[in-house]
Amino acid sequence: MTRRRSKAYSFGVNTPFKVIDGTPEPEGPLKRMKASVPDTPIVRCPRCTGLAMLEVKLGMTWRNGKPAGGQKQIVCATCLARGEHVVIA
Ligand SMILES: [Zn+2]
Repeated sequence: MTRRRSKAYSFGVNTPFKVIDGTPEPEGPLKRMKASVPDTPIVRCPRCTGLAMLEVKLGMTWRNGKPAGGQKQIVCATCLARGEHVVIA
């Protein structure tokens, strides 16, 4: 018993597969963005390991009736509630 291969093809089994373009690996701006941000550590208080931060300004001046300028500082909110001024950045 021998099967002829060509017969199967003649019955319309040989539906040609069409090669379509798949989704390529992100190579554009998305991949570049991922590469530029390799690691983003969480800002924590070194004293109480708290996560709540407050942004305060030191040395502001009155300009046209509005407070302006000053040096920005990030302090721990938890430590501040305890009466301590822990500067994070
Ligand atoms: Zn703290």
